[in-house]
Amino acid sequence: MDATNDGIYISNVSKEFISKSGTVRALDAIDLSTPRGSFVSLLGPSGCGKSTILRILADLDSASGGEVLVHGESPSQIRREHQLGIAFQDSALLPWRSVIDNIRLPLEAAGAPGDSMIHELVELVGLKGFENAKPSQLSGGMRQRVAIARSLVHRPEVLLLDEPFGALDEMMRQRLNLELLRVWAERQTTTLLVTHSVAEAVFLSDTVIVMSPRPGRIVREVPIPLPRPRTLDMLSSPEFLELTATLTRLLFGSLDEEAA
Ligand code: ADP
Repeated sequence: MDATNDGIYISNVSKEFISKSGTVRALDAIDLSTPRGSFVSLLGPSGCGKSTILRILADLDSASGGEVLVHGESPSQIRREHQLGIAFQDSALLPWRSVIDNIRLPLEAAGAPGDSMIHELVELVGLKGFENAKPSQLSGGMRQRVAIARSLVHRPEVLLLDEPFGALDEMMRQRLNLELLRVWAERQTTTLLVTHSVAEAVFLSDTVIVMSPRPGRIVREVPIPLPRPRTLDMLSSPEFLELTATLTRLLFGSLDEEAA
């Protein structure tokens, strides 16, 4: 199959940020290709360019060079077609709107109906009973769950997640990770997740991409051959522990290289 027409396709992408204090080379010659419908994680230390890659894919920023395609189309095309769901760590909810009206927002913006699935989404992210609450009445974790529900409201073909559960406690994070896998399996959404957590990356992904910082480069693509559906008891299986050990070594190796 032609990779450029497949899932996420990034070829020779670089990104420089130019400011008064100089130029930051955030990404250098990034090549990345993920199959349609796969769940892939970007794992790396802070500042290695993970969010920059996601922002370029989401059409929130542009690459300085190289080619980017999402399901065979440019990021701006796929965004215009509402095929992109995005949930970032700092979810910007509208403070004057209720939970339900925040989730509904992308549908309104697109002039689309589709109320029936909003209640399903509220249930999916465990916010039943809070439909009419305002963001200020919710915990940080609950606000993040509203953002996830909102990212799914168009039933997007592609989901971009930047540490969406980073602020949550471990149990809630694990629960939402399971829900995320359920949604992903149901809808075959091409998903790219940015995370700092090795265990989370292994638990969720088909492939984990390890990055090194300054400028951001891909160190290794590690396939995760754990069977699906993933279950919590896999977290203590020898295969899982071996994969997390390998990835941790790669991650620390990339930090050592930087320090050398
Ligand atoms: P990560 O998500 O892996 O933590 P980022 O993609 O946020 O990394 O950042 C990669 C590098 O680019 C960092 O060195 C960061 O300081 C720099 N950077 C990101 N956004 C900007 C910006 N708008 N202006 C200048 N530098 C930026």
